[in-house]
Amino acid sequence: MNVADLLLRARDELLAALVPPACAACRTALTAAHAVLCADCRAALPWLRGPRCVRCGLPLPCGEPCPAHAAAFAAAWAPLAYDGPARELVAALKFGGALPLAQLMAAQIAAGAPPALLRDVALVPVPLHPARRRSRGFDQAARIAAALARRRDLPLAPCLRRDGPATRQLGASRATRLRSGRLAIRVAGAPPRRALLVDDVHTTGATFDACARALRAAGCEHVAAVAYARALRG
Ligand SMILES: [Zn+2]
Ligand SMILES: [Zn+2]
Repeated sequence: MNVADLLLRARDELLAALVPPACAACRTALTAAHAVLCADCRAALPWLRGPRCVRCGLPLPCGEPCPAHAAAFAAAWAPLAYDGPARELVAALKFGGALPLAQLMAAQIAAGAPPALLRDVALVPVPLHPARRRSRGFDQAARIAAALARRRDLPLAPCLRRDGPATRQLGASRATRLRSGRLAIRVAGAPPRRALLVDDVHTTGATFDACARALRAAGCEHVAAVAYARALRG
């Protein structure tokens, strides 16, 4: 943990001590100590249950073809739909920077994930754009990945970078990138042999795909993806 992370943690702990606790999703006052969600929001969490596509993480049938049929990641999973209190929690983590939320999300991922997904992998957070990270001072995917790594005793491999405006190339390569819709993701250093990408939300899968493509091109043998919440279609 670097100095910035330590300062953020100290700030969060200080705020938690000074401000009466409120539900992270609906902001009503909490009575139970150390709770993050009120009972109503906890009961309304949109858990994904029933059979799901291993590849794209959507409830079956996922589509003809599967939206991840050409993706560079082999499997994807999330415990919750990106809806209701789960959507509020993602926003609270992203913009409120509440550390206990990253712990809660990691716990819910760890509790429900198919065992094979978390076996023999290093956790690779989906990188935040450097300008975003600077303005927010907080990288939600990195926080969830760190909490999950601690909980499951898995190695962290934060080896991906998202290129910022300063390093973005102009001209043909940029036009090609825009045409293909591909994000500028690169690998810094050696990637793990088996990677599990971690993000807060799995929307179209384009970000996971760009990350997986970069990892595979750098020699990674297996890439799967886990998110806290999965956006459903329609
Ligand atoms: Zn609530
Ligand atoms: Zn599918």
